[in-house]
Amino acid sequence: MITVGVDIGGTKALAVRLDGTETVIQSRVELDRSVETLDAIGRAIDSVYDDTVEAIGVGIAGLVNLKDGTLVWGPHVAGTSLQIRAGLTERYGVPVSVDNDANAAAVGELKLGAARGYSNVLLVTLGTGIGGAVIIDGALYRGGGFAGEWGHVQIDRDGLLCDCGKRGCWETRASGPALVRLAREVVSSNPDSALSRIFGSKPITGEIVVGAADGGDETARALVTEVGRSFGQGLADLVAIFDPELVIVGGGLGSVGESIIGPARRVLADSLYAGRLRVPPAIQVARLGPAAGAVGAALQAAEEGR
Ligand SMILES: [Zn+2]
Repeated sequence: MITVGVDIGGTKALAVRLDGTETVIQSRVELDRSVETLDAIGRAIDSVYDDTVEAIGVGIAGLVNLKDGTLVWGPHVAGTSLQIRAGLTERYGVPVSVDNDANAAAVGELKLGAARGYSNVLLVTLGTGIGGAVIIDGALYRGGGFAGEWGHVQIDRDGLLCDCGKRGCWETRASGPALVRLAREVVSSNPDSALSRIFGSKPITGEIVVGAADGGDETARALVTEVGRSFGQGLADLVAIFDPELVIVGGGLGSVGESIIGPARRVLADSLYAGRLRVPPAIQVARLGPAAGAVGAALQAAEEGR
């Protein structure tokens, strides 16, 4: 069965076309928040769509009503109560499934990636924000539908304002925008620093900071380590709650690998509850990389369209 999967994040959409479980095409579309979300999804789908496609799956960074395929709301995407399934079914005339992006990524990793063969797994996406999915006994745990939104666990009541409207959420410390904010602070307080020269007049992005860190810039390395440590601190809390066998890290920033995961792993080992008496779970980068959500959405579409 030929299906399309789209993963809609805060700044980019990734689309894949799958033939069974083989990825045939993959494309990345930059998103502009001024563009209406349904139109943005349509653009991403069109980048891989043709007449052979039999079903479409969408994973989106937000709270999704699974019954009617509506995006209830998401702090990093435009619009509320968006009727994604109804809108896309009308436009493309094929069955459409809609889920939270992290849930879609978890399905991708469970069927084709790092979670294969495991029963109890947490998937944590690190990108524009932090999302998550819980696999218990080999199946997605959804709660009432909105489980896994631990990016908005409030770790500092008086902390920085989060995109969700609360203060001090975990993702205000650990995310692409958190890394960019730290880099901006360094550049504005020290315009002669090596980091300032690297950025020049370009807009600072998380990828550039990670690239500078991996290229040997000590200041950039310290910033990436700080974000990695904040990420690991939250992972330690999640492991205290769920005691998973494996933690999979996905999302744009999570997928960069050891520069972020290394410091996170060390903090997890140091601050895990009863850490001297237990072995912390392995932390692995999503095997499907940044495409995990799109591939998972395409697999979900195949399952539902069958
Ligand atoms: Zn928040």
